[in-house]
Amino acid sequence: MPAIEIFPIRAFNDNYVWTLIKDGYAVVVDPGEAAPVLKFLAERKLTLAAILNTHHHADHVGGNEDLLRHRTVPVYGPDDDRIASVTQRVHEGDRFTLEEIGLELSVLEIPAHTRSHIAFFGDDLLFCGDTLFACGCGRLFEGTPRQMYDALAKLAALPDRTQVYCGHEYTLSNIRFARAAEPDNPLLAVWELEAAAQRDRDEVTLPSTIGREKSANPFMRCDQAGVIASASKRAGRALGDPVSVLTEIRDWKNNF
Ligand SMILES: [Zn+2]
Repeated sequence: MPAIEIFPIRAFNDNYVWTLIKDGYAVVVDPGEAAPVLKFLAERKLTLAAILNTHHHADHVGGNEDLLRHRTVPVYGPDDDRIASVTQRVHEGDRFTLEEIGLELSVLEIPAHTRSHIAFFGDDLLFCGDTLFACGCGRLFEGTPRQMYDALAKLAALPDRTQVYCGHEYTLSNIRFARAAEPDNPLLAVWELEAAAQRDRDEVTLPSTIGREKSANPFMRCDQAGVIASASKRAGRALGDPVSVLTEIRDWKNNF
């Protein structure tokens, strides 16, 4: 059985529409715009089989309706009226099978970036939108630091080999912040060189893995001495719990 090919269709400045391809069918994740997706499907002679949405932001769902005019397919997404085109509103623990590409996915509710944000997980693949980024996390538009802490802990519990497909190419700037947040983590300098070389060649730095994120992403390391120390230094007081550390470094990153 041939494996699923996962291709990043580029959209806007730094969005990726992750496209899962098998046997002439394609499933797209977070199509913020339709034009590059339709171009890719035509070039590769692929039939759209389904759309997955992680959250309601326009740069993740803006292409839904044009794609549905092209072909009627199921749209799996959060239970949130702000995405009118979702046909399958899914919840924590739901499982469904994308028959055309032979992939079963389960749903994780991870509110924080938005209040109804979800992720899709299956076959060691994670599509996590704007919650977990390579070496970073999303901004807290509709959630609290505690919710982001819980969401990242839920994702950290997935197997280390899980491949992390996030919504944006933010890796290099995230690593540069991580080096300030945890200066004594030797993995960050190595990753920065790797990611910088990839960007110089205009390559995608993704997917990451859960194992790598747990060892290098400061937002997943709010209980580690180096991150606690730098967050406490910025706060001007000793931060005693990981949610306070996450609160501090999220604010630091916003102003970095
Ligand atoms: Zn977003």
